[in-house]
Amino acid sequence: MARDTLHGLRTSPRRARAKPVSPPDADATGRVAAVMARLSEADPDPKAGFDDTDPFRLLVTVLLSAQSTGPTVARIAEALFSTVHGPAHMLALGEARITEIVRPVGLGPSKARNIVKLSAALISEFGGVVPRSSVAMRRLPGIGRKSAEVTANFAFREPVIAVDTHVFRVSNRIPLAPGTTVDAVADGLAHRVPERFKDGAHVWLFRHGRDTCTARKPACPRCPVADLCTWPGKAI
Ligand code: SF4
Repeated sequence: MARDTLHGLRTSPRRARAKPVSPPDADATGRVAAVMARLSEADPDPKAGFDDTDPFRLLVTVLLSAQSTGPTVARIAEALFSTVHGPAHMLALGEARITEIVRPVGLGPSKARNIVKLSAALISEFGGVVPRSSVAMRRLPGIGRKSAEVTANFAFREPVIAVDTHVFRVSNRIPLAPGTTVDAVADGLAHRVPERFKDGAHVWLFRHGRDTCTARKPACPRCPVADLCTWPGKAI
């Protein structure tokens, strides 16, 4: 199976972009809905092929993805979960061995420590299973808002839009939900993005930021939402 690199999670191959839909209203609310419609039309099933059968693996993979690249995270997650099946197995593997396995993703010792703490907390507080809500997940060691919302969105289809560096940049540039903090942008997106787009919004915005609206050299001439974008630095 081909791999995407979204937080190191496993996906199926991407499909070709569809043609953009017609231009929308100019007001902010209309712009957000129009941008989401445009991105969703180009990729109507953004999570097709993602392996969401093991929430614990998803949660640990997202934890591993902090400050690391997707392909490396995917490879290391594969190695880690080749023998681990749940939090009890993870504890049995032990922090030293986990550190060895996850070292290539960077911050190995602290990530291994958090994986152990996370596994222990899942057993002691949640009966050994990952809770379904992102709010509950945020009580787990090493799991912040972004990790909890990515996992809840992918594993349980909770309609939350996790804000990572790509989503943050795109949301401020177009803009969709401007803000100086991740929480402000996340709250703005939660308020402005229509419900029907929330399940796929993180993936669409993440990919748009990673592949098109990149930090240093956004590909504005081929951007599918260029006519909706009001960023003064737009190169078009
Ligand atoms: S037009 Fe350029 S700056 Fe605006 S969203 Fe598209 S790629 Fe980003």
